Amino acid sequence: MEDLLQKIISLSKRRGFIFPSSEIYGGFGSSYDFGPLGVEMKNNIKNAWRDEMLRKQNPPAGGIVVGLDSAIMMNPKVWQASGHLSAGFADELVECKKCHHRFRKDFLEKDKCPDCGGEITQPRKFNLMMKTFVGALEEDSAMAYLRAETCQGIYVNFENIVNSMRLKIPFGVAQIGKSFRNEITPKDFIYRTREFEQMEMQWFCEPKTAPEFFEYWKEQRMKWYLNLGIKKENLRFREVNKEELAHYAKRAVDIEYKFPFGWKEIEGVHNRGDWDLSNHSKHCGKELKYEGYYPHIIETSGGADRGFLAFLIDAYEEIRGGRTETTEAVKEVEVMLKLHKSLAPVKVAILPLLKNKPELVKKAREVFDLLKNNFACQYDEAGSIGRRYRRQDEIGTLFCLTVDFETLEKDDLTIRDRDTMKQDRVKIDNLLEILKEKLEK
Ligand code: ATP
Repeated sequence: MEDLLQKIISLSKRRGFIFPSSEIYGGFGSSYDFGPLGVEMKNNIKNAWRDEMLRKQNPPAGGIVVGLDSAIMMNPKVWQASGHLSAGFADELVECKKCHHRFRKDFLEKDKCPDCGGEITQPRKFNLMMKTFVGALEEDSAMAYLRAETCQGIYVNFENIVNSMRLKIPFGVAQIGKSFRNEITPKDFIYRTREFEQMEMQWFCEPKTAPEFFEYWKEQRMKWYLNLGIKKENLRFREVNKEELAHYAKRAVDIEYKFPFGWKEIEGVHNRGDWDLSNHSKHCGKELKYEGYYPHIIETSGGADRGFLAFLIDAYEEIRGGRTETTEAVKEVEVMLKLHKSLAPVKVAILPLLKNKPELVKKAREVFDLLKNNFACQYDEAGSIGRRYRRQDEIGTLFCLTVDFETLEKDDLTIRDRDTMKQDRVKIDNLLEILKEKLEK
């Protein structure tokens, strides 16, 4: 199964989904860059999340969700109040006395170094906040932190949001953005990195309604992954037990995905009680109450990168011996990304049958121009048509349009469906409507 991860890593690089960061200088720790197709797909994931949160929700007792984009660098007092500068937001670090490799204590199965079997040191607390200096002088007074979660920006804007939007409880605030944690052992490709993107929604509600909303949001979040095509057998809930709960949480359920390296969290649903608003009130001296009480908060906190990796792995399929659509004898393994239509980075590919026939190329270019403002399109003329189909299957392209000699006579072309491989001829005049219907359905 680890083999599968290697295949995903290599496909990601080969086809422009994810590159190791600063690769020409030997890379940089656990940093990755999203390439041309990766950025399309990641934006599709984030848009699907925004759409879900801001437009499609219908929670019991009503309530809407609004958006926010708060700053990455905030007043350091925020992190004092939130508990992130204390032991609560620290991992236990151990070091091998022999090879000096470092590990997170809770990741070790035995009290021995997993790399060389050496003895390990006593654990010491290691705070995960990333520090930086703001301004010209590197003095303590100018020290700031890069946020470790996006939600603090939501809590400190609670009053601004309620007042400016004239909101009544319950309501939610959704935000997508980068977060940073100085992870001791980043690993498993983009699963655990020091810089990552979160998609977080905070639901403010009356204390007595919090358990019911917790159930609601937990189900909604699971449905979101299922509706976007992740197989049911690869997803599960895990109730986080009391000893593991984060410092702010009253209850937490993780949504886990079955990665090649085991069942792992992709999203957490947390009942944060009144921890955040009451602590910020204490520290800032302003009562962040609503009609005399501290609203309770249900949080859904997903990682855009972990979600990306789960969507990619789940969509990956290998077809041995190839699919039987071309005259070429395809001996190699054919790779398919069966991504959900809203997540696929390229929706439509336009292919002239032959690249050395100017009239075909011209017509195909015209079709590309006709479609490119409406859908993410690719124009590809290199190699045999069978190879081009396979290249498109490998990145999850939903439809391939082939311009051939008949096109020149009848103004129609073939449209090939990625999943069924069915090919139909359609009139170019109707193409836009047909594709819109197929992609929106
Ligand atoms: P873990 O136990 O894996 O360290 P966590 O429980 O600390 O994760 P949360 O604080 O609940 O994670 O963060 C919410 C979400 O943010 C996670 O479900 C995950 O998708 C994402 N996330 C957290 N840390 C990382 C990281 N280092 N790299 C990538 N994504 C992350």
